[in-house]
Amino acid sequence: MVHAVRKPFRGRLRTPLLALLGVVLAALAGFAAWRAELDAGAAALRAQADTRLHNYAGALSAEIGRYGYLPSLIALDGRLRRLLEQPRDAAAVRAANAYLQRANRAAGSSVAYLMDAHGLTLASSNWDTPISFVGANFAFRPYFREALRGQPGRFYGIGTISRDSGLYFSQPLRDGARVIGVVVAKIDLDRVAVPWQGWRDPVLVTDRNGVVLLSSVPAWRFELLAPLPEKVRQHLAQTQQYTVAGPLRPIGLLPAGSAAGAPLWRLAHPASGSSGPLPRHAFMANSLAVPALGWRLLSLSDMRPVREAARRSALAGFAIAGLLESLALVLVLRRRAQAERAAGREALERAYGELEQRVDARTSALTQANAALQREVDERERAEAALRQTMDELAQAAKMAALGQMAAGVAHELNQPLAALHTLSDNAVVLLDKQRLPEVRGNLDAISGLVRRMARITGDLKSFARKAPAAWQPCWVSKALDGALSLLQRRFAHEGIELQRHIPVDEPRVMCDELRLQQVLLNLLVNAADAMQGVERRRIDVSLDVDATPGFVRLRVADSGEGITPAARERLFEPFFTTKAQGTGLGLGLSIAQRILREVGASIDAQPAPGGGTEFVLRLRLADHGVDEHE
Ligand code: ADP
Repeated sequence: MVHAVRKPFRGRLRTPLLALLGVVLAALAGFAAWRAELDAGAAALRAQADTRLHNYAGALSAEIGRYGYLPSLIALDGRLRRLLEQPRDAAAVRAANAYLQRANRAAGSSVAYLMDAHGLTLASSNWDTPISFVGANFAFRPYFREALRGQPGRFYGIGTISRDSGLYFSQPLRDGARVIGVVVAKIDLDRVAVPWQGWRDPVLVTDRNGVVLLSSVPAWRFELLAPLPEKVRQHLAQTQQYTVAGPLRPIGLLPAGSAAGAPLWRLAHPASGSSGPLPRHAFMANSLAVPALGWRLLSLSDMRPVREAARRSALAGFAIAGLLESLALVLVLRRRAQAERAAGREALERAYGELEQRVDARTSALTQANAALQREVDERERAEAALRQTMDELAQAAKMAALGQMAAGVAHELNQPLAALHTLSDNAVVLLDKQRLPEVRGNLDAISGLVRRMARITGDLKSFARKAPAAWQPCWVSKALDGALSLLQRRFAHEGIELQRHIPVDEPRVMCDELRLQQVLLNLLVNAADAMQGVERRRIDVSLDVDATPGFVRLRVADSGEGITPAARERLFEPFFTTKAQGTGLGLGLSIAQRILREVGASIDAQPAPGGGTEFVLRLRLADHGVDEHE
């Protein structure tokens, strides 16, 4: 059987699932690319920020280190010590002021001044400016207190007089073990922050409390990274560290997760950086401690480029994965299509092979059947030929039998005139001798009549025996019946058979061959006589009346015989069907009668006779019914 090559159900179901899976995988690839790029970008950003922070921290430390020694150097000069010893000496004050001014200028610091042990400024490099420190007391400053304790002090703050921010370095001036004064040099750290300004990401320096000391975002200076505890606030107020800058407010940095191990912040309020307004979204916060002062350097790196790159990577990852999947899908589909084609071809070839085998098998079976059929046909033909020959022979034999029967009748018919002829001719001789000529003439006339009668009998016989096709001509049923009866008279008389004829006086003519009709009737009458042999009352009724079918008459021959069984009735007209003893009947009479009647458009049938026995009904075509031509 040829199976249709079908796409497997699994394959059909899988396609949308595969597509979905492909999208999910591509999305995962995109996510992975995003994640990787984000991590790598964040790590790079962090490394960059760290480098920068180290640089800045280095610069800051160098600056601090550079100026750390300045107060000690300044303190070496005797003019300061002299002033401390004679604070009211105007010349000493002048000398100290001039010295401090020169030293400050040479060192590049903002201001340099000398305080006594009570924090009172005795001399200052800015003695000749409106913001002169001379006479001001800075005892509240931590750097003073530290120096008083005998240690160098460091302090970042906003000048209460100068209002400039700066880093204060202090150094105690001793007289033996006693601190008699403090030398202070203040440096401006803003210039350290100058290179930062060019950087687009904000950089801040905070003190240990988170107060922004330096910033590339000017607005953030002296603001807070986080709100200050109350204690710290009080301490700052005491030292007036940032009092001049006003109240300290938080910048407004909100946590926004982390990246590459560094926290992310975003801005609560808008702010402007060195190159325009800052974005509000996430910044990566990297910090580095500046150990000398307990400060922290903080850089806020914009995460936007990193995120942008991550987004691009995600898109690229998604696109590449999608492309690769599409390629893979195309390959898989192509391979599947090839496999299906191959399977289809194979199935087709298999089916073709099977078909060929079947065709071969069928062909050989048909050939065998054909040969068998041919043999059968040959046998049938042979049998038919044999049958035909046998039938011919039998028909001939039947004819001979009929002839024999007829011969007996004929002999009887001829015997009578022959005997009369004999008597008449003998009488004629005697009468001639007696010269009774008129009587001789009468005898001779009688002889002539008898000879004519005999000639008619022999003529009839000749035409009965002749095997000519039935003539299609109008004829009288009564004449045919007479002819048949003339041959049976002796038998009927001998067997006591009574024959009644019911033929109307104005008998219509029928289309038939008179001699053949006579032959048919003779056969029917003989059969009737045979059937009545075993019964006592022997009577045959021959009647001619109008048939139900227009244009036909019905001729019935009914006997009072033993009748026929329904089984025999069905086979009556079969050739060679007979119930008679061997030698008495061939079973051809009725079949020949049927054939003759068919030849002239008539029919014959048998049925039980009304008074028992059998009735044969012949339907004969009327000759004078306007249908006098062959159909
Ligand atoms: P045959 O007379 O040689 O047997 P038929 O063909 O004339 O052949 O008749 C066939 C058979 O039909 C007869 O053997 C007989 O059994 C049956 N048959 C014919 N006519 C009659 C009849 N009138 N009554 C009973 N049987 C009949």
